[in-house]
Amino acid sequence: MSKDETTTPANFIRQIIDEDLAADRVSQIVTRFPPEPNGYLHIGHAKAICLNFGIAGDYDGVCYLRFDDTNPIKEESRYVEAIKDDIHWLGFQWKEIRHTSDYFETLYSRAVELIEKGLAYVDDLSMEEIREYRGKWNAPGQESPYRNRPVEENLDLFRRMRAGEFEDGSRVLRAKIDMASSNMNMRDPTLYRVRKVTHQNTGDEWCIYPMYDFAHCLSDAEEHISHSLCSLEFEDNRPLYDWVLDNSSPPSRPHQYEFARLNLEYTILSKRKLTLLVDTGKVSGWDDPRMPTISGLRRRGYTPESIRDLCDRVGVTKKDSVVEMGVLENTIREDLDRTAPRAMAVLNPLKLVITNYPEGESEELDAANHPQKPEMGSRKIPFGRELYIERDDFMEDAPKKFFRLTPGCEVRLRYAYFVTCTDVIKDAHGHITEVHCTYDPATKGGGSPDGRKVKGTIHWVSAPHAVETQVRLYDRLFTTPVPGKDTGDFMDDLNPDSAVTVKAFLEPALGAAEPGSHFQFERLGYFFVDPIDSAPQRPVFNRTVTLRDSWAKGRK
Ligand code: ATP
Ligand code: MG
Repeated sequence: MSKDETTTPANFIRQIIDEDLAADRVSQIVTRFPPEPNGYLHIGHAKAICLNFGIAGDYDGVCYLRFDDTNPIKEESRYVEAIKDDIHWLGFQWKEIRHTSDYFETLYSRAVELIEKGLAYVDDLSMEEIREYRGKWNAPGQESPYRNRPVEENLDLFRRMRAGEFEDGSRVLRAKIDMASSNMNMRDPTLYRVRKVTHQNTGDEWCIYPMYDFAHCLSDAEEHISHSLCSLEFEDNRPLYDWVLDNSSPPSRPHQYEFARLNLEYTILSKRKLTLLVDTGKVSGWDDPRMPTISGLRRRGYTPESIRDLCDRVGVTKKDSVVEMGVLENTIREDLDRTAPRAMAVLNPLKLVITNYPEGESEELDAANHPQKPEMGSRKIPFGRELYIERDDFMEDAPKKFFRLTPGCEVRLRYAYFVTCTDVIKDAHGHITEVHCTYDPATKGGGSPDGRKVKGTIHWVSAPHAVETQVRLYDRLFTTPVPGKDTGDFMDDLNPDSAVTVKAFLEPALGAAEPGSHFQFERLGYFFVDPIDSAPQRPVFNRTVTLRDSWAKGRK
């Protein structure tokens, strides 16, 4: 993405960078985006991506994509591929791909260095005991009986941990800091643990793996990261970040800055919870169009521009907040309003017969592809005696304010003619099966020669010409703004109606719609041709978002 395309609102991180550059504290801006490859990226990650890549781009710096792969149990290479795909799709390019595992040898030697300085020790306590000994936030912890092992013994044990002599959970390497610290992270945190698991990148080369707090700051230092940006929950880890760097001899001295996470109403942004939705089959996969993942949003019909726009609108602050779903939905509405061609489709059909239209005949009418953009051209739509309209656009006993079709009333058929309802046909159960109308041939194109006004305009498709296909009406995945708030289990708040598939009738031109293209179905919303489930001449549409107007909003 070129610089001109980005809007770059000022924020406190950019201020820090400006000051660092002005004071010559840094010469080049280097950032990184450090996902753990244990799931797909979600919209919260998009915020961190826009921030890290955006800053690097704007300051002529560089941004690395670093896979934070220190926990081989949960990490997989398919996640690595999906993450790369999503970042590219969002419009960003990394300088290089790095892995925390690229630095395993270096990290090991920094740990040895800490042991040699008497600042780390091998502990034989179990995980459980370590937790107990750590104490509570309001009471000091207790020192491990192994805390004062001689340096030589620690070096020997740590070497043997690496050599695979000890089982998982039997020994760890800990930093020797302060068991009475008011910051729990500083109470002799674990630096390395034994995990006899094959790593997706390093295979069986290692059986000890570094912990996040030890690996992250040292990886930043290896890459000469000038500003290490992470979310607010790492604020209490910063003293440890600094301690590790200050007590070893890394090639550079990065600094960590924290910003508020992106939270979104009516959904969850946690890979652990999203994994659960996928694993229990509540959604069809990571790219289910209801998922708040980048791949889900993309399959729903969101564009990279709309997601970057959301990140700009939300901004970068130190204050946690929850973004309303409407803010996200507005970004895609605004984007697609500009770019999506218009079309007509009927999702809940009711047959309309024009009794004074000659039987067996039809004609072609002109329809503009975009009301404000003549350069987007126009198309022909067939019109004839038998049409489909939306069932909701007809009411037999209508209230005064109902400006659509009702017996005895005249409405405009979009791009076509004025029609007046003359008859309602019902089956034996009283269910309306057809409405009969007459049309006024003089109103072709939608205007009347005598200046006669109609209050409503409705959309339609020609019944014999219509393309029949599936349209998936997606709604929010959860029914409450903060899923699980009341019961403690977010699964309790899943919306049972979040995916409704209907058989719809489309104007014929839509039969050839390309997978991956966007349309506004007039009066209904924005729809996206599913890139996976569509077949030639058989597009399957996903509803991206409804239109703003109240009529569309009340519909499912
Ligand atoms: P999750 O809680 O979903 O598993 P995570 O923080 O464990 O997220 P990582 O893969 O470690 O996931 O995240 C990579 C980067 O993205 C980190 O720097 C993290 O701070 C950032 N990030 C994750 N979630 C959000 C969010 N909701 N808003 C902003 N940044 C986020
Ligand atoms: Mg994380």
